[in-house]
Amino acid sequence: MSDKDFTYWVRQGVIGLGILLVYVLVARIGEVVAPADTPDGILVIAPSGVALAVFLIYGYRFWPVIIISAFFAYVSLGVPPVAALSIALGNTLTAFVGAYALNRYADFAHSPFRLPANIGLILCAFFTPVISASAGVASVLLVGELAVQDTLAAWSLWWLADVLGILTVTPLLLAWISPPIFKRNVAQYAEMSAAITATALVSFVLFFMTDERLPYYVFLPLAWAVLRTGARGITISLLTVAGIATAATTLGYGPFAEQSFLSLQIFIGTTAALFLVFGDVVEERRRVQRELKERVAELEIALRKISAEDEAKKEFLAIVAHELRNPMAAILSSAELIKAKGLDESDASDLLGTIEDRVRSMGSLLDDLLDISRISQKQLSLKKEEVSVGSVIERSVRTVLALMRSREHNLSFTRSAEEIYVEADPLRLEQIIVNLLNNAAKYTERNGSIELTAQAEGNAAVIRVRDSGIGISKHLIGRIFEPFFQGVRGKSATDGLGIGLSLTRQLVQMHGGTITASSPGENMGSEFTVRLPLLARLPEEDTEKDTEKEVRVTHRRKIQPVKNTLRILVVDDHKSIADGLGSLLRMRGHTVRIAYNGSEAVESAMELRPHAVILDIGLPDIDGYEVARAIRRLKYKTTLIALTGYGQKDDKAKAHEAGFDHHMTKPVGLRELEVLLRRVPSENGDTGGKKNKNGGRG
Ligand code: ADP
Repeated sequence: MSDKDFTYWVRQGVIGLGILLVYVLVARIGEVVAPADTPDGILVIAPSGVALAVFLIYGYRFWPVIIISAFFAYVSLGVPPVAALSIALGNTLTAFVGAYALNRYADFAHSPFRLPANIGLILCAFFTPVISASAGVASVLLVGELAVQDTLAAWSLWWLADVLGILTVTPLLLAWISPPIFKRNVAQYAEMSAAITATALVSFVLFFMTDERLPYYVFLPLAWAVLRTGARGITISLLTVAGIATAATTLGYGPFAEQSFLSLQIFIGTTAALFLVFGDVVEERRRVQRELKERVAELEIALRKISAEDEAKKEFLAIVAHELRNPMAAILSSAELIKAKGLDESDASDLLGTIEDRVRSMGSLLDDLLDISRISQKQLSLKKEEVSVGSVIERSVRTVLALMRSREHNLSFTRSAEEIYVEADPLRLEQIIVNLLNNAAKYTERNGSIELTAQAEGNAAVIRVRDSGIGISKHLIGRIFEPFFQGVRGKSATDGLGIGLSLTRQLVQMHGGTITASSPGENMGSEFTVRLPLLARLPEEDTEKDTEKEVRVTHRRKIQPVKNTLRILVVDDHKSIADGLGSLLRMRGHTVRIAYNGSEAVESAMELRPHAVILDIGLPDIDGYEVARAIRRLKYKTTLIALTGYGQKDDKAKAHEAGFDHHMTKPVGLRELEVLLRRVPSENGDTGGKKNKNGGRG
């Protein structure tokens, strides 16, 4: 037998012995308080309540214990063994029927102290003792302990004794053996003792010291007990009243001395039933109160959270407004200066440069914000493909080149000889690297050095961006990836919302990768490491092996972006959008024509024969799909890019069917548009995109 089995059986043995003792004890008390002339075996309060409590608490498997206990109890009361056995069988059957009915119809096992359970208990107390009383009276009759003419009186006494046993002893055992519903503190236990003592004193006065028929005054201390002390207090108080009243009556005192024992039993039964129901109502009220309190607390927490979110939103809007106002002020003043006469060409071009720069930074700020909102609404999906890390890095370097030059940084790029591949969305991977490079440029003093490395380490493609800049202090480094966190601003770091790194991390995670930051301390530079799952792939043709290639890019050495000037037709009925996009594209060196409605668009397409048409779908006269079909009917090679409103269901199939090559959602990310335009075939039929790809393999 294992230790566990041993403890189990010891526990069962102790419970069995406990049941036996309590059973015999209750039977003896029941006999002691019974009038002297009652036959052996007839009690005032019978131990049948113990049997029912045992089945309800410990289960039916204790039936042998109940039979044995009842047998001993009745033999010890002087009942002959044959009669004791049949009484014991009757008692066990009574308890079994009661427990079964309560579990089946009142869900007693799960909610013993609820009103339906206690009403069930009261019904059970009145009906099931019919079995035990009949078995008991028949037994004592058969062994000649009872005269035939006394049968009916004995039966009713027996029945009532069992009723009282179930109404007083069962709830008491249930309340004290089951774990309490509410935890009590010392003061509450003190109050419980006081209420029980008061009940005992009042009962003593009422039943021993006065003959007046005023037993109902005992309701006063019982009300105290029931209102303030719960199931445990009221069950003891009820038993106290029952005990004192019966003892007094037996000894010839009190209001019931002159009457039959039956009236006393009826009084006790009614009182017990009444206060058990009353107790349930009180417990129910407390339970509801407690639940209400819990709900209110939950609501308060939710409210606090909502108002904190509201605060965060307000703060966020204030930051956004501030961040947009700065570049707008710069644009406005530059525009004013350009309007003023007497500017020489180089001043004007500087001012235009400022405007371009500011518009670009506002654009990327808005792009980031939109990305963040798309990620949080789970609308951002990756277009993953097999990409060479090297080629993406080269494109990223080209994107940040202007900033690197303007800040006179030395940017170096080292990568292993073997080309490494990952499964990624090339545009998003570029965004990740550009964000890190931009930060490195922003948070490094002029003429600093920025190193970018890419290599395979185990199963990961590892991209590192290290700078010699302002570094990050230990207490801030844990927070820099939090949304809207802004640390110490670099001297040139005027723009940014503190969302770049949070967005970067989310993009890296969407690729199944990780990003970490480290810094030896303030003014000692920082390093950001991105790890992405490496794609197992054999290199195509690699001639240089075991060597490290280094591409050094400095402000002195130029890597020219691929020049790909195009004729572009921009069509949008929102004048500001069309004009703005047109200006930006002209700044990039493209030839741009603008149309504000569908028919104008078709005419312009015939005249200009553009390489690319950027076409809004919602136009006032002919819709974008019709315009696309009309342009396609002109039968010359052009790239059609559809623009649909944000939130509009992007019906790619419809756009494709109308003849569109690409589909973009407004507001258009300049970066995405540029990447698309790089792929548009120019006059000589070459494509910028292809060039990049080849360049990447170099
Ligand atoms: P932003 O640059 O707009 O403030 P980011 O999310 O990109 O927002 O960065 C959060 C913070 O992390 C920055 O405010 C800055 O304090 C710190 N940080 C980011 N990159 C670097 C870096 N390369 N060197 C030092 N600090 C950096």
